[in-house]
Amino acid sequence: MLGLMQEHPLLISHLLDFAARYHGDTEIVSRRVEGDIHRTTYGAARQRAAQCAHALAALGIGQQERVGTLAWNGYRHFELYYGVSGSGRILHTLNPRLHPQQIAWIVNHADDRAVCFDLSFVPIVKAIAAQCSGVKHWIALCAPDALPADLAGLPGLASYEALLNAQPGDITWPVFDEHTASSLCYTSGTTGNPKGVLYSHRSTVLHAYAAALPDVMNLSARDSVLPVVPMFHVNAWGIPYAAALTGAKLVFPGPALDGKSLYELMQAEGVTLAAGVPTVWMGLLNHLRDNHLRLPALQRTIIGGAAAAPAMIRAFEDEFGIHVLHAWGMTEMSPLGTLCSLKNKHLALDKDAQFGVQVKQGRPIFGVDVRVVDGNGTDLPWDGKTAGNLLVRGPWIASDYFRNDGPSPLQDGWFPTGDVVTIDADGFMQITDRTKDVIKSGGEWISSIELENIAMAHPDVAMAACIARPDPKWDERPLLIVVRREGSSLDRDSLLRFYDGKVAKWMIPDDVVFVPSIPLGATGKMLKNRLREQFAQAGQTASG
Ligand code: AMP
Repeated sequence: MLGLMQEHPLLISHLLDFAARYHGDTEIVSRRVEGDIHRTTYGAARQRAAQCAHALAALGIGQQERVGTLAWNGYRHFELYYGVSGSGRILHTLNPRLHPQQIAWIVNHADDRAVCFDLSFVPIVKAIAAQCSGVKHWIALCAPDALPADLAGLPGLASYEALLNAQPGDITWPVFDEHTASSLCYTSGTTGNPKGVLYSHRSTVLHAYAAALPDVMNLSARDSVLPVVPMFHVNAWGIPYAAALTGAKLVFPGPALDGKSLYELMQAEGVTLAAGVPTVWMGLLNHLRDNHLRLPALQRTIIGGAAAAPAMIRAFEDEFGIHVLHAWGMTEMSPLGTLCSLKNKHLALDKDAQFGVQVKQGRPIFGVDVRVVDGNGTDLPWDGKTAGNLLVRGPWIASDYFRNDGPSPLQDGWFPTGDVVTIDADGFMQITDRTKDVIKSGGEWISSIELENIAMAHPDVAMAACIARPDPKWDERPLLIVVRREGSSLDRDSLLRFYDGKVAKWMIPDDVVFVPSIPLGATGKMLKNRLREQFAQAGQTASG
């Protein structure tokens, strides 16, 4: 027998309708690329999202066509989140920190019909436009009089504000199947090309409900939320949706992610919750310390994307009275998987024991199933000690990649995360390692293979391996280990210069170690673990 409940699809547009109806005067505050502070409300944002949807229709962008964005966190990006997805098109957030070649590849793979860009990303647009012939509309997120003159000639060049001004601010959003695709975000792993993760309306709304839960972000209409995590990286961890679902005030930092700018914005806007990767929080902590400042309104901060160092968690808690919530997730998981909220029984523990729990990545959120298995796929005990591969499944976890011509990533219906973890009896998960050799620098991924391939293209290089070296500021930085060709006297500086123009500047290895040989495993693969043991000490300098 079926239940007798009404059939209403879970659609992203309903989140904004709800926010505009019940929290219409709640503010959305943005630091703009222009440098000033812009203020709007959920009510006004709905009108502009409606104008945005009409403008896309007027341009002839069809249902389910992709609309790319190259944009910081701000109110216009927020409008695009709703105007594009709400109207049945697919929002494709592009990561501007990638090399232009990679961005062009992703735009073409996604077959973006339009790309909307902040003026800071004009150089990227200039670099990729000629290669992206499928993009019929290049839309600058600015007023018509701010359109850069040197962009004239780009196909369909338009000012976003001019497009919106021509449209009405009301809309009845289309109603469709909740499984319809809503947004797309590419993840760049170690091997091969970036992979597209295609979210649906249903997965996004369910994830927003989950994100708002008390033991997750504990979001409410009394919060003022600042996502430092970019809207181009897994939908800013779902905050633009979860904030609308709860009516929380949104504060967007734009391009200014340094400690001083973040402090000023948090202070001025009474931010109660902020979320971001560890490197960003380092900058904020240093600014607070150096200037003897405090953030009395800031109750909690979510740290994820890379492991939050215990020292950082302690500093927030002990020096500044700000509660840290350590979170773990992946692009393929929308991204929230686990979050470290203490249970009642932990509150009775002494500070050190509590802290021992808090440094873990946390326990699964309802909706996310986890398993830890060995190399044969056999379940391992949840004893907090035995490490194995983490598998996940759930309604906001990818079942496949967009336009994937390879095999499905799933193993018997479970998504292998590539993370090596322990899980304790209460379900608290801790990452001990990762199976991939990717290098995480400032919250972004650097592909070790890409860096090796470039080195290998140098005529004086016989073999190259790239490994992560711990770094106090960026978490990790790439270190290149090289075997020179016989008779060559290649030096560090000329090899590093060889990377200029081939990858983004921040991806270039910090240092080179020359070695007589690189250890190989039985199948001919380089033994990077061994290299890491030998060389990946912070401060290790070049030799040979
Ligand atoms: P991405 O898809 O770029 O968000 O990266 C996902 C990966 O980041 C995960 O598979 C982990 O390896 C890593 N990661 C995310 N959060 C954490 C965390 N809190 N601690 C350690 N690693 C993390």
